[in-house]
Amino acid sequence: MNLVIFGPPGAGKGTQSKFIVNKYNLYQLSTGELLRKEIIKKTSLGSEISSTINRGKLVSDKIASDLIEKFISNNEYKNRLIFDGYPRNEAQAENLNKLLSKYNQKINLVLKLSVSLDVIKKRIIGRSVCSICGKIYNEFFNPAPKNTDCCFSRFLQKRSDDTLDIAITRYQTYEKNIKPVTDFYEDTNLLKVVNGETPIDQITKEISALIEGI
Ligand SMILES: [Zn+2]
Repeated sequence: MNLVIFGPPGAGKGTQSKFIVNKYNLYQLSTGELLRKEIIKKTSLGSEISSTINRGKLVSDKIASDLIEKFISNNEYKNRLIFDGYPRNEAQAENLNKLLSKYNQKINLVLKLSVSLDVIKKRIIGRSVCSICGKIYNEFFNPAPKNTDCCFSRFLQKRSDDTLDIAITRYQTYEKNIKPVTDFYEDTNLLKVVNGETPIDQITKEISALIEGI
């Protein structure tokens, strides 16, 4: 099976992807990572990518497609890919279908982790780290214990406010840009929206059920 996973920054996409990869022996194809690797290899494609990114632009659909095709065409990864960070627009979604069908494969399931902006905000505003032991807390979801030898409020450090502003912008941009792509998959009945606001193990269970239901 091949999957696509979507989720705004802060939705826990990384955690859930890792779980799926391990449980179902899949390979996570993260386009961001592919691009970084290509840049490090210092190929001519790599330098083209790095100059595009340095100009603040997104790499072309053609480059992204060529990088992905290397994996789709490789038997080692046949029917065991999780696409993360691709497709980013409708043209890429159509292209992905074409590429897969060229190698007798298809997308079997599209997951979208859904988290409201309100929860994303609380995850950031409420987050604090104990400067003594490094434990991470959240005053809304996972407050520091009252009886403790270590994690007193004076040791709990919070992140700065600009972190929140950046996170809000990133969330809103992501949701706006990804909407036409998730609509595309909804039209073909592949899209499953998973509530990303429940505890991690519950999200994991829900995703397993969806995968096993394919
Ligand atoms: Zn502590």
